[in-house]
Amino acid sequence: MLNIILLGLPGAGKGTASAPIIDKYHLAHISTGDMFREAMSEGTPVGLEAKKYIDGGNLVPDEVTAKLVEERLQKPDTTPGFILDGFPRTTVQAELLEDILQKLNRPLTSVISIDVPEEILVERLSARYICKNCGATYNKISNPTKVEGVCDRCGGNEFYQREDDKPEVVKNRLKVNKEMNTPLIDFYTAKNLMTRVDGNQAPEKVFAEIDAVLATK
Ligand code: ADP
Ligand code: ADP
Ligand code: ZN
Repeated sequence: MLNIILLGLPGAGKGTASAPIIDKYHLAHISTGDMFREAMSEGTPVGLEAKKYIDGGNLVPDEVTAKLVEERLQKPDTTPGFILDGFPRTTVQAELLEDILQKLNRPLTSVISIDVPEEILVERLSARYICKNCGATYNKISNPTKVEGVCDRCGGNEFYQREDDKPEVVKNRLKVNKEMNTPLIDFYTAKNLMTRVDGNQAPEKVFAEIDAVLATK
């Protein structure tokens, strides 16, 4: 059983690195960003609440986010293991997660931080685009679809850019997330769970580094 957290600033490649890990280890992918976007598109109460923060690149309140994760972790597909992608993002969330996992008796195996210099993050976020049909993530510069305009995964031909990937919002997202990031890394370092990988290399190499860490668990 692998219960993993992927840390990393917006654009570090958490979603991209999650895909091959999930395939290899059959883990449930728990992305709070994806869950909020789904809730927003469905117009649920959580979605309407989250939208107030997400549109400006701010963090959704800790309790709202932790509750969403707590509910998600009770679904049976998470029993063989899970990847938390984008949660926790604050030490308050990390403390709340400790309580949730203790209650569910699901200890963490490993916390991996994908580290990328900020200038590169700005570049990556402004060039990110997503398949409308299946949600696969691409990059105009570093990771385009193999055939132009056709999704590698599902063959779809409609794509979009996230509203919060536009330059004004990106600036605030990076600022907000950066402030929270060091305390989080300290939190898991103190628990001897932390590994940092270099995210400024090709996706296959990032995956190989993460896989090498997981193979020892
Ligand atoms: P996050 O989930 O951490 O926000 P994503 O996985 O969505 O990050 O990646 C952000 C953008 O950078 C996407 O456009 C993605 O295609 C691209 N990307 C992801 N990993 C890499 C990498 N190792 N090298 C170059 N570009 C990458
Ligand atoms: P990225 O990793 O590219 O920043 P995500 O898709 O993970 O983007 O998150 C999008 C937005 O959803 C964040 O900017 C934030 O508003 C909200 N969000 C996601 N995860 C959390 C979290 N753990 N705590 C608070 N807000 C969150
Ligand atoms: Zn697709």
